[in-house]
This record gives sequence, C-alpha cells and structure tokens, in this order.
Amino acid sequence: MSETTAEVVICGAGIGGVAAAYHLVKRGITRVALVDERPALSLTSDKSAESYRNWWPGPGDSMVALMNRSIDLLEDLARESDNVFLMNRRGYLFATAQPEQIERYVRAAEEAAALGVGPARMHRAPGSDYRPAPAAGYEGQPTGSDVITDRSLIRRHFPYLAEDTVALLHARRCGWFSGQQLGMYMLERAREKGVRLIEGRVERIETAGGRVTGVTLAGGDTIATPRFVNAAGPYVKDVARLLGVELPIFCERHAKVAFHDTLGVVPRHAPMMIWTDPVQLAWTDEERAELAQSETHRYLLEEMPAGVHGRPEGGGDSPIMLGVWTYDVEPMEPRFPVEFDPAFAEIVLRGMARPIPGLSAYLSRLPKCFVDGGYYTKTRENRLLSGPLPVEGAYILGGLSGYGMMSSNGAADLLADYIAERKLPGYAPAFHLDRYQDPAYRALLDDWGDSGQL
Ligand SMILES: Cc1cc2nc3c(=O)[nH]c(=O)nc-3n(C[C@H](O)[C@H](O)[C@H](O)COP(=O)(O)OP(=O)(O)OC[C@H]3O[C@@H](n4cnc5c(N)ncnc54)[C@H](O)[C@@H]3O)c2cc1C
Repeated sequence: MSETTAEVVICGAGIGGVAAAYHLVKRGITRVALVDERPALSLTSDKSAESYRNWWPGPGDSMVALMNRSIDLLEDLARESDNVFLMNRRGYLFATAQPEQIERYVRAAEEAAALGVGPARMHRAPGSDYRPAPAAGYEGQPTGSDVITDRSLIRRHFPYLAEDTVALLHARRCGWFSGQQLGMYMLERAREKGVRLIEGRVERIETAGGRVTGVTLAGGDTIATPRFVNAAGPYVKDVARLLGVELPIFCERHAKVAFHDTLGVVPRHAPMMIWTDPVQLAWTDEERAELAQSETHRYLLEEMPAGVHGRPEGGGDSPIMLGVWTYDVEPMEPRFPVEFDPAFAEIVLRGMARPIPGLSAYLSRLPKCFVDGGYYTKTRENRLLSGPLPVEGAYILGGLSGYGMMSSNGAADLLADYIAERKLPGYAPAFHLDRYQDPAYRALLDDWGDSGQL
C-alpha cells in the first residue's frame, strides 16, 4: 500500500478527466493524479461519432458560448499539433422534404445567429454564392449557417440526397475529428508536465471538517489531496455518492453503426447529414406481414422519429459510412459490455436510405455492419455539469451526454478556472450544479423544449 500526495485528484481518464488534467496544467497546476480503473479513453470516449458543432438551442446563449469556447480551444490544439487529430470543418447539413419546414429552417438560422452561432445566409436562387465546405482543414471557413431552398442548387451540390429534398440548412462551425488522437495528444502534454496516470478504482473519498482530504483506491493505496474532481462518466453518480452528494443525472444507451460504403454512394467529402423529417421505413409486403407478427419489432411499421444522421469516415479504397438514429432511448443503469438490438444496424441503414436513396442498394444483402456505443450521461435538460460540488474541495466534470468530445475542452477550461480561482466566464452559472436550487430555473426546466440532442 502506497501513500502519495497531489494538488488535485481526478477520478476518470475519459475525455473529461484528460481535458481537466490538461487545462489544470495550462494554469500551472501540475501535481495532478489522474486515476482510472480502465485504460485511458477506453470506456465512453472511444465510442463517440467524434463530431462537433456550435449549433445548439437556447434558452439563453450559454450552450453556444461554451461550445464556441470549446471549439476555439480545439482549433488552438489543432494549430499547435499540426492537426494531429484531423479536425475538419465540413459542417452539419440538415435536410427536409417537407415544404412546411422551410420557414422553420429560416427561423432556426436567424435564432441561432442571435445566440452567437454566426450569421444566417439565405440561398433562394440558382446563382447564389453558396460555397460547400472543403473536405479537410478548419481554417478560413464561415461560421453561422446557410439555408438553401433553391432545388437546382441542392441538386448541384448534393446530388446523392433524395430528389424531393426541398431545403437544406448547412451549419458551418461543425465537423469532426479523431477523438482518440485528441485525447492522447492532451494526455501526453499533461504527463510531460507532471500529471500522473494511476491505474486504480476510487473507492473512498476522505473528508475532515467538511472538506476533501484524500482519496483511497481499491487495495488501500491513498492519495492525500485537498481537491477531488469527479469525471467518472457513466459512474459519476456513484462516485458523487462517495461524498454524500446526489446528482440529478441519468444514463441512456446510444449506439452507432459503421459499414464499408463499397459502392461509393456517399462521396468522401460529404458533410454530416441529418434528416429532420420523420421516416416511414420501406418494407416489402412479406416483410410487413412478418413484422406485424413480432411483438418487439412491430413498431417498425409505424412512422419513425426524425433525426437519422450519418457521415463518411476516412477515405481510401473502402471508405466507411457511420450512421446514428436515436429512436428508442430511455433512462437505464449503465451495464458493460453494452448490448444492442441485433436489428439496430438494419434499422439505421433503412432509415438512412430515406435521405440518401443510393444506400438502398445495400438493403437486399446487408453489408457487414459494426455496431458499438455506450451511455450518454445526462442531466434532465441535457446541459453538462462543470464546477464545485457542495463539499469543499470537491468538483464535477460530468453529464457530457452525446457531446463530450466537442465540449470537454470548454467544460475543463471552466473547471480549471474554478480550481485556479480565476475570473469565471459569463456562462459559468449555466453549468453549475446549484442552478437547480433556483426556482426560476426549475420552472424553466418544466417547459424546456429542444434539448439539442440529435
Ligand atoms: C454512440 C455515441 C456517440 C457519440 N457521439 C459523439 C459525438 O459525435 N461528439 C461528441 O462530442 N460526443 C459524442 N459522444 C459522447 C462522448 O463520447 C461522451 O460525452 C464522452 O466520451 C464522455 O466522456 P467522460 O470522460 O465523461 O466519460 P468516459 O469516457 O466514460 O470516462 C469515464 C472514466 O471514469 C472511469 N471511472 C468511473 N468510475 C471510476 C472509479 N470509481 N474509479 C476509477 N475510475 C473510474 C471509467 O473507467 C472511465 O474510464 C457519443 C457517445 C456515444 C455513446
């Protein structure tokens, strides 16, 4: 049994804990112990679709402000590392075949501009100056969004989308990167400055006089410390209980599908595509009859929710297509290994064939699909927690939901400001646990609306 000391102990070396260590080091706090019972970045943080966006709804502009800050930090990291994590800026392309959604797109673009996403540009004629995004790189690109309602413009730039597509909204400060490369880059920089990565399970958090004094690991090793950061991902609630704190957090299971687009249906340079209409899956009469008999899959005959989305990954001879569709989530206890509906891949592929009809070529004989995922760890309104806990010296960086790769730099930067006692940004209260004590905020929660989850 060993006894050591640290200025800060972080529980969890997922992207949240790694980013916290990195930003503490940036503020000169280097005697940091990063404790994880698993290999770094291996639980939720290697399951993500690795996408980012500053496209977030209100109420208020806090979410957009935090995400803009996070993306600024990601861009700084990309610059200093010669873009080792391959950050691109292809954008998120929302698409619809419902004429009644056109006005909604225009309003959404204008509302987003008011929240700080960037300007709204309308493209209503074939001669418009709309420019699609480059495949690689992130510099010199527009922010905000482009709403395209001219059908010829849509077909010219996105011929692989369904012919009945009537409007597109291209959100521009969005794209994707390699989350593992990003995490490893930050972890290596932090370790170079003295951060210790310790393998172990946090089992107890010691307190005296109402403040943190140390951490005990399984096996009995102890680390004396005045500060503890809970960045335990899906176990953040259990770890908070070690401090006697109950967090308003729950988990949802989410998965993604990957398959080789051997027919080259989706061009390598395509953006992230999100279909904002509900989808009626196409079935043969025989399949319909079979599904009607199945208790578990009968719902597939009904209209399915909007939001099926996907994007190409990598290039070369055999590019990969990723697909995600959040059609059946509910709160659950996290359990590993995570199990998924064996029909998930086919359902997502069928859903994606609505906005990208070329993909239906794969439906008669499904390609080999790889399904993986994990848990979104969420607050009720889908806004993360970064800041102090009600025990002196204890902090949280959690509830990163389905946006932890993109937000962890912003969230960790905020957390490091608390710990280093720096001036806090204006959005800090929106991510503090004590927001739930505010009656006005609680009233807002009852009428929240769009949580920004895709
Ligand atoms: C299918 C899917 C798609 C996603 N797509 C995106 C996306 O496109 N963009 C995006 O930004 N985000 C995305 N996400 C979300 C993102 O992956 C998560 O928000 C992020 O990985 C959470 O990071 P974390 O550090 O909080 O948790 P984790 O990565 O789970 O890390 C928590 C760590 O804490 C450790 N731990 C827990 N308890 C203890 C203990 N008692 N002692 C020691 N160690 C402990 C665990 O071992 C683990 O390593 C997606 C997630 C999923 C599941």
